[in-house]
Amino acid sequence: MPNPSRLRLRIITACTGQKRHMPEGSLTQDDFTYLHAPEIFAQRESALATYQLPAAEMYTGQQHVRLMRGIEAAQATFDIDLWIVSAGYGLIHGTREIVPYEMTFQGMKAQEIDAWAAHLNLPQNVQNLLAQPTDLTLILVGKSYLRALGLTDDTDFDSTTVFFTGSEALHSLPTHPKLRAVGLNKSDATRYRCGLVGLKGEIVGKLLIEAANHGTDYLIAATQPDVDLRMFIPEPAPLPPKVHVLSRPERVDFIIKAPPGGWAKPHQSKLRFFIPDWDDHVDPDYDFLTETHAGGKGNRSNQMFAHQMYGQPSYDGLLVSKMVADESKIKRDLLTEIGIHQYLRVPKDFPVMGDCGAFSYLLDDIPPYSSSEILEYYTRLGFTYGVSIDHLLFGAQTEAGMQARYDLTIQNAEDFITEHRKNGLDWTPIGAVQGASPAKYAEAAKKYIKMGYTHLGLGGMVRSKTDYILQVAHAVNDVVPAGTQVHLFGVARVDSLTDFVKAGITSADSASFLRQAWIRFGQNYIGDERLYAAIRIPGGQSKTKRLTDPREVERILALEAAALSGVRGWANRISGLNQAVDAVVAYSELVGLRLTPKLIDEYRLTLDHRPWEQCGCAICKQAGVEVLLFRGNNRNRRRGFHNTYMFYRLMQQILTGEGSLPIPAEWPLKSRSVQLVLPQMETL
Ligand SMILES: [Zn+2]
Repeated sequence: MPNPSRLRLRIITACTGQKRHMPEGSLTQDDFTYLHAPEIFAQRESALATYQLPAAEMYTGQQHVRLMRGIEAAQATFDIDLWIVSAGYGLIHGTREIVPYEMTFQGMKAQEIDAWAAHLNLPQNVQNLLAQPTDLTLILVGKSYLRALGLTDDTDFDSTTVFFTGSEALHSLPTHPKLRAVGLNKSDATRYRCGLVGLKGEIVGKLLIEAANHGTDYLIAATQPDVDLRMFIPEPAPLPPKVHVLSRPERVDFIIKAPPGGWAKPHQSKLRFFIPDWDDHVDPDYDFLTETHAGGKGNRSNQMFAHQMYGQPSYDGLLVSKMVADESKIKRDLLTEIGIHQYLRVPKDFPVMGDCGAFSYLLDDIPPYSSSEILEYYTRLGFTYGVSIDHLLFGAQTEAGMQARYDLTIQNAEDFITEHRKNGLDWTPIGAVQGASPAKYAEAAKKYIKMGYTHLGLGGMVRSKTDYILQVAHAVNDVVPAGTQVHLFGVARVDSLTDFVKAGITSADSASFLRQAWIRFGQNYIGDERLYAAIRIPGGQSKTKRLTDPREVERILALEAAALSGVRGWANRISGLNQAVDAVVAYSELVGLRLTPKLIDEYRLTLDHRPWEQCGCAICKQAGVEVLLFRGNNRNRRRGFHNTYMFYRLMQQILTGEGSLPIPAEWPLKSRSVQLVLPQMETL
């Protein structure tokens, strides 16, 4: 019995040549000429009585099989009424018992189709059926069967009726306000990885499966006018790469190899770039379509660092703060066991700097570590460089407090190098310098040189203006001997790189290009000529946690799916730009993301320019438009890796001069355009 509260769904599908039973003596056109002579026809059928089945079960062609999968999944949710357009029997209900036959409209000439369809009373029966009340009708027919239906502009459609047919047959559909059409072609076959023969069944089957999960609203939304229904149908997960995939954790736990010439690069004689690491890794096999990791949750056992993803680092060294290394007991134990290089999966000769992460104890009166403790830690983990314990002056409340921190930092540097020398340690000590003015920095630097330091690190200027940083650097440079290595902590600004070099800075670190990927809303992706907004499509599941109304949950998930497939459809050149933007905006509004008109314009620009296609980096090549989605670690960090890669290329180009490196010319070279493209960015 139909359930009045459920959506009534009528499905009309063409018969298929493949049948469950295909015995000798199956009915042919000759037999069906007696269709209206019941006695004769019944006699012919009875010879095949052992093969008799309900029509719904008779056909085994791909279109039917795939459609039936969807019907089975959706039967509990909707009242489904299945009809078959049989080239032998005419229009029959799915429950009608039939016997095997060999008969198809395919390959018939137009006039033949018309004549035979008339013999079967097809046009009349189809028109009667379409005029009967239901909530939604889906019709799956190819060109020949569509002709056999004999539809005209006068055909009465009681319900919204969606035709799934070949795109070449679209023009032969009548016009009617309730009629919608999905024209399928080869690109859909590729997209859904299904041959053209079964594609209509595949699309409708998937639609039904999705609708069974998401409910009536989903079906209604998918069949609205001007909506590309394909946006509602998830694409199959990408095929695994044909390369041999190692079993985990070997897949990710490998150490990158230095290029044949070693790590040296021309720009390093001027400035070396270090990147602070906060366990920034991604799953190389992350499945963006199903949002699943290759094995369980994302962690060290299935994720890679940027230098592993690219095979080469986009930096000249890594910087690890003690507080990051101390995050958990498991991590501390692992670091002790394997050392910092193996942990970061870089070879021993790749520079890794350790510092104490002064921000973590900014408000304490004195740093929570002793010099001997820190020396032991750097040695145990095998750092290339170790930074003495500094204390940030601006954490102090008073002038006297600042002076105390200044003096303490200098005292720590003295203890640090004294003990380092006494123990004959083989890594390079860096004296951390703090100061309240350029003169104070210089005064401390002078003392450090006397202590025996060849490497200094200027701290506490992450928030400072570039002019001030340059004053400090110059003041220090004036008092230290030539060849002294000076690291600038937490600052790497594209438009000041050459000025830093002139002021004697020899290395700098910054995570701002990485973190820009998810911190700066609207400027998350560094393109060749400009910054692009990443398109924010937050995970729908997290938005539904507190909801109790299942329809509301369904709505969120349906609009989320539409936003994702809108963007992917545009990226794959299957659906339009407006569709993508509208779907993203609709979902954003639903989940309470307020998008300004300016940001919507930025989204449009991102999609329109297709920067993911222009970037040849390993990450964009593999993940495509997913890199431009603001959604979860595996997309956001990938985008951060890309940004770092872009910055590193630009930095090398700026430092070595135009044309001295094989870098594509599209990068902005002039410092003015660089300033326009990349405004000053700071860590924190
Ligand atoms: Zn890229």
